[in-house]
Amino acid sequence: MSDTADRDPEFAFELRVCRWAERAWHPDGPRPAIVARQLGTRNRRWDTVVVEVDPDAFAARYALSTDGFDSDLLRVVRHAPADWQWYRDAIPEPDFPWRHVVPAVHRAAGLDLVEKRRGSRNRVEYKQTAPYPDWVERIVAIENKPNLDASAARALADQLEHDVSRALADEVWVATEATGDRVQPALLEDLPVEVGILSVGDESTEVLWHPSKLTPDDADARRRLVLAERAYDRGWRTYLDTMRPDCRHFELRRRGMALVPRCGAKDCYQSQRECAHSCSSFEPEPPAWRTRGWPIEGGPGKGLRRILESRRERARKRVFEDIERDDGHEM
Ligand code: SF4
Repeated sequence: MSDTADRDPEFAFELRVCRWAERAWHPDGPRPAIVARQLGTRNRRWDTVVVEVDPDAFAARYALSTDGFDSDLLRVVRHAPADWQWYRDAIPEPDFPWRHVVPAVHRAAGLDLVEKRRGSRNRVEYKQTAPYPDWVERIVAIENKPNLDASAARALADQLEHDVSRALADEVWVATEATGDRVQPALLEDLPVEVGILSVGDESTEVLWHPSKLTPDDADARRRLVLAERAYDRGWRTYLDTMRPDCRHFELRRRGMALVPRCGAKDCYQSQRECAHSCSSFEPEPPAWRTRGWPIEGGPGKGLRRILESRRERARKRVFEDIERDDGHEM
């Protein structure tokens, strides 16, 4: 069964776009980048987010912690001074009471991201263990629309106009499934001219329309960094957290260069929404599976999780390490 014949193929397509971006970003030539999905602001969530990075600075960020920093932690770590300083002298004044900053200083110290002590007048002082690097180069938003016809383009137009005028990202794209047909001129008319269009196939990707470079406002620097930290933390393979890999029907199937969840019971690439606790076809993986061919503790469900986690780590390290590539097999 092909993707296009499946119900709700958007999720599978989204994973393929993420995998392609991880392997081959940018369409104009290689740029080191990390990829995440379903991230954005309170008002706007993007399907795929690509964060282009400086490889050396990214290595320093990775050395600080393999976890992303939430905004409270980021405030403390980013402004940590080289020498002991009262936290209020080191951090720009927040738009909430200072006392709410102190728990984040303690938390950062507990994670060995900074050192802290009591200074004169019992003030909380702290300093960095290593400087927070300037690792983010550009942020790119991709909207995934496998069946991009003229009516889908019209439906997307307002959101994309908002993305372009808001300019939180440096570049905005729409990714659509490669069909072999020429792109309809009407479709290009409906989308903002600043938005790029990518045609994504199983083996190759083609630029149908080049995007314009947007100019993010300097006032958004912190917001963009919070977004990049969340992308670093989550990546794009965390979908198992909200699905049922412990179901006996759950499989990861190779689709192009990506591993995509597939449901054996429904014979389709299931969506996250249907592969949930409410699924009436759910059946737990039999206990015998937990001891058959899965050498470490846990059954296939836990095994799939480990596979995806190790792939994510390899992909992150590949950004700054000279790991020999074998992209035909590494998904
Ligand atoms: S039967 Fe339901 S829970 Fe099991 S893999 Fe299929 S969609 Fe997911």
